[in-house]
Amino acid sequence: MGGWSDVMTHETEFESLKNYPAPAMDKLAVHTFTNKPWSADECIANYAAAGVKGITWWRETYAGQDLAALRRRAEDAGLTAAGVARCGFYTGNTAKIRTAAVDENKKAIDESEAIGAPVLVLVCGATPGQTVATNLDQIVEGVRACVDHARAAGVKLAIEPLHPAYAGNRSAVASLGCANWVCDQINEPEVGIAVDVYHVFWEHDLEAQIKRCAAANRLFAFHICDYKAEPAHLLLDRGLMGEGVIDVRGIRRMVEATGFEGFNEVEIFSQRWWSENQHDYLGKIVEAYRERS
Ligand code: ZN
Repeated sequence: MGGWSDVMTHETEFESLKNYPAPAMDKLAVHTFTNKPWSADECIANYAAAGVKGITWWRETYAGQDLAALRRRAEDAGLTAAGVARCGFYTGNTAKIRTAAVDENKKAIDESEAIGAPVLVLVCGATPGQTVATNLDQIVEGVRACVDHARAAGVKLAIEPLHPAYAGNRSAVASLGCANWVCDQINEPEVGIAVDVYHVFWEHDLEAQIKRCAAANRLFAFHICDYKAEPAHLLLDRGLMGEGVIDVRGIRRMVEATGFEGFNEVEIFSQRWWSENQHDYLGKIVEAYRERS
């Protein structure tokens, strides 16, 4: 079926793999959507058994559960909540749509607090038929409307710039430079950025933008995976670290050079990997984390 066997015959040449240390195991977190076939409790049990220390909850994974009880079970298993993914989607061509989005974000902030997550990840939205400028204005307005609620809950809001391939209907925030600009407009300590290598690896000034983000105390989260040079599906064919073209370790070095001490969160949406045995897959994630991240 391809996948890992192909990876192992493809030796990446990134200098960072030789010149920068492997990541600490206690910094490994996994997004529950990475193992989409698993329930919340399967994620807890299997991550803990594999030595994973952090868990980023997808709202789909915990839907319908008692979040305080779920939080206790995760903590009892030795897992720390790294974040909640995701909300946002602030844009819309009527005030009613935009108000509903703010309400949904406040609900997601409450969920983050209940499950013990310090950060809520925001996919900010883009409405077809609106200009980028209009979308960005609505995003600034929408995030701003959530700041007081986030502050009261003790939850930070992490704007995740998306790869421009998603600028049509998922996020007008399509570069780290743009995310930094949005944060400048809002200028609140609760509002920062989630850096995901999949979305920003291509940026020519990535190191400068990571420094700018961190210097403003806005580097809230770091997501890792890989970008295959020719993905079969834009959304659901992410690669395991080492399967694609991203110098994951080199970007981690940039992030850690700023003093970032958070988790390295593995976030992979892949129909190919979801169809495999999830226990074997998790083993490969841990291996790819040590050797290719
Ligand atoms: Zn991400």
